[in-house]
Amino acid sequence: MKTVKEASPDNSSTTALGESARVLAPSDGMTPFEAATFFFHQSADRLGLRDDMREVLSTTYRELAVQVPLRMDDGRMVVLRGYRIQHNGARGPYKGGVRYHESADLDEVRALAALMTWKNALIDVPFGGAKGGVQCEPGLLSRGELERLTRRFTDMISYIIGVTRDIPAPDMGTNAQVMAWMMDAYGKKNGYSPGIVTGKPVELGGSPGREEATGRGVVICAREVAKRKAVNFEGARVVIQGFGNVGYWTAKLGAEMGVTVVGVSDVGGGVYNDKGLDLVALEGHLEDSLSLADFSGAESVTNEELLELECDILIPAAVHGVINTGNAGDIKAPIIVEAANGPTTPAADEMLNERGVTIVPDILANAGGVTVSYFEWVQNIQHFTWDVDQVNLQLEKRMTRATDEVFAAAAGGQSLRRAAFDISVKRVAHAAELRGYV
Ligand code: GLU
Repeated sequence: MKTVKEASPDNSSTTALGESARVLAPSDGMTPFEAATFFFHQSADRLGLRDDMREVLSTTYRELAVQVPLRMDDGRMVVLRGYRIQHNGARGPYKGGVRYHESADLDEVRALAALMTWKNALIDVPFGGAKGGVQCEPGLLSRGELERLTRRFTDMISYIIGVTRDIPAPDMGTNAQVMAWMMDAYGKKNGYSPGIVTGKPVELGGSPGREEATGRGVVICAREVAKRKAVNFEGARVVIQGFGNVGYWTAKLGAEMGVTVVGVSDVGGGVYNDKGLDLVALEGHLEDSLSLADFSGAESVTNEELLELECDILIPAAVHGVINTGNAGDIKAPIIVEAANGPTTPAADEMLNERGVTIVPDILANAGGVTVSYFEWVQNIQHFTWDVDQVNLQLEKRMTRATDEVFAAAAGGQSLRRAAFDISVKRVAHAAELRGYV
């Protein structure tokens, strides 16, 4: 196992997109999978895991890499790379999203699959961990191109997914419409199977409350941690990096629950207002503009500056590796809630722990999405629908229970991430042992 200091840059990608992926992901010398596995190995050391179990849990169960030929609207054919990676299935069918992003290469999808195993175990849904990805820039594709890409990718991975085998869901660059196409493509061969994907449109068997579930879970976690750190949640000053599905709903629901959102950003840059951003005006602005950065009701800031703003709670809700040794010393927030997957590198995590910053780890903070995915899957299997109040109540219960468990495990003084990994690794190892994997 590498220590933080020994890790060497080994991000050599063989695809034409590898270059931009490296720029997008400052990683303190670790690839995303190395970073995710680093936290696992630390936990395996603390738990005294046997070597054979360590081997099973630090590697992936199955990796499918596929060619995704896509006919563009202008007649050209481009060939993209797609992946579906199943990390561990000891606790149930594999579960995790599908990401359309230029950095979604084999290593990143592997990392995300492993994080799903730990997340699902921590929030205690009966799933293993998986993730999918197609390395592309979805913003440059037309609706028709996206649909063809999705149908082709679904056909290519259809051999290993299934309602009781592996259930995809949305992630960065995908949404309910993409899930509708996936369900349709899969159903054409296998018959009507709404439980094959979660995060579908409600009209097609999706669950009410799923779209905002990750953001709602982030806000619940932020509220719970604020309570324990004697920060008044009502009026707490919050900064959010990323304004996709998760960042948007975190801001909206956070504001409804009384926080003051002082800064937000998207890929083009961010905006800051010391007195709180007018989120309704900001939403209106985004109807006519593609970028947050030119919103007139606030000062503009770069993404780097945004992370270093004075605030009570910082919420990275974009890509991995954004909190690294380059900026960890300058982060002023006393609380970080990781809405993104893998936003903090292991080296930065150590620096922030030493400085006494409280970090709510990704596998807890962003588990609300997969939790409501579980509710959606259950509803699909039972052909019985829940109302949104029941969904939100059950989500609230599971998020607060997992948060309580993590705080209890951290009572001896270790970080919340270490406590969370210890709980998850113990649960997965126990399930693997019971099944007789090792
Ligand atoms: N993509 C989301 C995540 O990273 C949700 C996964 C799911 O619902 O299966 O947790």
